[in-house]
Amino acid sequence: MSMIQKCIPDAYHASIFEISYHSLQKQGITTLFFDLDNTIIAYDQSELNVKEIDFLNNLKKDFKIVIMSNSGYKRVSNALKGTDFMFLWHSLKPTKIGFKKALKMVGETQDKVMMIGDQLMTDVYGAHRLPIKVILVGSVKRSSDRGITKINRFIEKKILKKIMIKQPKLYEERLLPYVKDHAL
Ligand SMILES: [Mg+2]
Repeated sequence: MSMIQKCIPDAYHASIFEISYHSLQKQGITTLFFDLDNTIIAYDQSELNVKEIDFLNNLKKDFKIVIMSNSGYKRVSNALKGTDFMFLWHSLKPTKIGFKKALKMVGETQDKVMMIGDQLMTDVYGAHRLPIKVILVGSVKRSSDRGITKINRFIEKKILKKIMIKQPKLYEERLLPYVKDHAL
C-alpha cells in the first residue's frame, strides 16, 4: 500500500456519535482505539463532559477501549479524570509504537481493532501502517487545532488533492463528506 493509499480511511462519519458500533461488532471488531483531541473533545475543552463519558462507558459494555493521544500526560489524564478508560499519552502517531503498545494493553490482534480519529496524517495513516482499520471522524472543533496539528492539516490538504486525482471513487465516498463538513 502506498503512503497515499494508507491515508484513505475505511469509512467517514461526522462524529463518534454517528458510527454504527453494532455493525462493527458484527464485523468482528472487539476493540476501539480512540484519538482524544478533536475526536472526543475539542482541544480547548479540558475534560470530557457527562455526555462523552456516558457514551464511552456504554461502548465499554461491548468493546475494549483505549484512548490513544499524542498529547502529554497532563492533558490526557486530566481530560479523563474520574473515568477508568485505558489510555496512552505521547502515543507518537503515526509511528507504530503507540499502536503496538495499545494492542498489548488489550491483548488483541490488529484485525480485531478499529481506530477512530480526526486526522489523516496521524490517525488514518498511522493505523494503516500496522495495518489497523480506521474510521475518520469530523473534528469536534477545527478552529481549536494547534501547533503540529496545523502543520499536519496543511499536508493533509495536499494529500486530499492527490487522493482525489488517484482514487476519485474512494475520495468521493469517504473524503468528500469530510471536506464538505469542514468547508476545506
Ligand atoms: Mg485528533
